[in-house]
Amino acid sequence: MNKNMFASDNYSGVCPEAWQAMAEANSGDVNSYGDDPWTARACDQLREFFETDCQVFFVFNGTAANSLALAALCRSYHSIICHEMAHVETDECGAVEFFSNGTKILLVPGADGKIDPDAVTRTVERRTDIHYPKPKVLSITQATELGTVYSTEELQLVGDLARRHQLKLHMDGARFANAFATLNLPAKEITWQAGVDVLTFGGTKNGMAVGEAVVFFDRQLAEEFDYRCKQAGQLASKMRFLSAPWASMLQQGTLLQNAAHANRCAKLLAEQLQSLDVIQLVHPVQANAVFVQMPEALIDALHAAGWYFYTFIGSGHARFMCSWQSREEEILGFGEELRRIAADLYVD
Ligand SMILES: *Cc1c(COP(=O)(O)O)cnc(C)c1O
Repeated sequence: MNKNMFASDNYSGVCPEAWQAMAEANSGDVNSYGDDPWTARACDQLREFFETDCQVFFVFNGTAANSLALAALCRSYHSIICHEMAHVETDECGAVEFFSNGTKILLVPGADGKIDPDAVTRTVERRTDIHYPKPKVLSITQATELGTVYSTEELQLVGDLARRHQLKLHMDGARFANAFATLNLPAKEITWQAGVDVLTFGGTKNGMAVGEAVVFFDRQLAEEFDYRCKQAGQLASKMRFLSAPWASMLQQGTLLQNAAHANRCAKLLAEQLQSLDVIQLVHPVQANAVFVQMPEALIDALHAAGWYFYTFIGSGHARFMCSWQSREEEILGFGEELRRIAADLYVD
């Protein structure tokens, strides 16, 4: 049995549609560095998807997408406000601070991985003097690091909050597709119409081999962003292999299908886990992650049986991820083994 399948959505392989798109792009000699028909098509598809004339760049991974996008919004004496469990804070090795030449990240708390608006206001207002790094950007993650999703109402509120405090709004959308599948609304309503200035849109966790899109809804903010990408080593010379899957997966609807499938699998997995009284959900399952509280002995027994999952992410609970590649029968199989292991453990 595949016992690695819950560790992360980036443990999955490349989905057939992305693979096919790369194979189709693999013909002949074409212009390099993004000046090719596939990249042009992918940018157009994204403009169609968001129903606006956004400016699009493709980079290799999410850390680069986030840190370069945030660097484009800030000067070195500015600050970025984000949730204390945000990927940009906890999992990017200081890349944001590095690429922005020292912009400070200010952390706010909030339930279920979502920023607490009052804490943002306090952070902005507590100091206005020259000795404090000037707040410039509000960064949120959608879907969040804890597998929850900001509703449209919450997004509107965050957008208003950012405007009120004159903050640019960045959305870390490494799992934007999962949030999009959950909310089931036009993409524009949950991005630029809610005030998002820049979205870093993840492809990798949704089934691509590599490649995230940086989408600037405010085109002015994209000024010289191409130079930033190049200097950071993020301008792919054979760009067509990053962009072709985007064009194809948007056009065919694969992006949404993959995300909806992963989300459905997470719901099924949550049911399986909750079939044991000793396991409790710690966050609502709104995307493709399931966070549970379970006894240490059970975690150890699952690990000993070869099941791999993380216990250090976010709030420090056991995290189980689903992906486009998850299979429902395998999840049910896990449930059976889980109950068997628990029965052995808790027998008198
Ligand atoms: C995975 C992830 C990223 C991107 O990580 P890379 O490993 O750099 O591609 C960014 N933000 C969030 C919330 C993520 O989960």
